[in-house]
Amino acid sequence: MRDATRRLRKKLKDNCYKSETIDKIVEFYTKGMRLRMKCPNCGFWNRIEVNKLFIEQETSERKVKAYIPIYEPLKTETCKKCKSIIAKPKELIRIIKGK
Ligand SMILES: [Zn+2]
Repeated sequence: MRDATRRLRKKLKDNCYKSETIDKIVEFYTKGMRLRMKCPNCGFWNRIEVNKLFIEQETSERKVKAYIPIYEPLKTETCKKCKSIIAKPKELIRIIKGK
């Protein structure tokens, strides 16, 4: 688990997350779950295999903590319809609700 955390921390850093956020990786995640992801090129909904983890972030509202899910693709994924690359293991996916 330590190795996994270190690896994720590096990836988060590469993905330009704030350092204070990086220190608060919640050490539990779901391995190998399926995430629905819309192809930015053609709009087709694909299912990709990811690890799900959470980072902890303090919100502006007093001491309420938010847990933000981050998805780590297990391999390079291409769109089933148009074949463009939609996910890479190096690039973590952060889904913002309401967009
Ligand atoms: Zn596509």
